[in-house]
Amino acid sequence: MNIRIGNGYDIHRLVADHPLILGGVKIEHSLGLLGHSDADVLTHAIVDALLGALSLGDIGLYFPPSDPQWQGANSLMLLEQVHQMIKNRGWQIGNIDSVIVAERPKLKPHIQTIRDRLAQLLGLSPEQIGVKATTNEGLGPTGREEGISAYAVALLHRNF
Ligand code: MG
Repeated sequence: MNIRIGNGYDIHRLVADHPLILGGVKIEHSLGLLGHSDADVLTHAIVDALLGALSLGDIGLYFPPSDPQWQGANSLMLLEQVHQMIKNRGWQIGNIDSVIVAERPKLKPHIQTIRDRLAQLLGLSPEQIGVKATTNEGLGPTGREEGISAYAVALLHRNF
């Protein structure tokens, strides 16, 4: 069996009057994330982990912020496209693990919903999708609630 591993990171700025979407799930909060697409920082980190596993570049290569067609884009569509690229090359996702770094809101009540949403989209079991949340203990830009960041790793496998 052939295996590959990839990692991804992303951060988006927190601002008023924007939705907070993490892993395709809209979360009630006084602030939301700013970005060219829907600014789904978790999904972007996962997309980069998947691309990275096959050394296919990064999210900006395929969905550049300069391209108006990605304005307000649902990031789950980007994830679906990247998943298709992987499958076209004969690879399958073994598992994904991720961490969201956010001072607020409390994400624990949303973790299972996010895992279920991503698993459904990718045709995986929720057991294959790890989503964890931590604060930054008040330190740095995420600690000051200037933004939310996310890290992800993905393991891919194929039988040839
Ligand atoms: Mg991003």
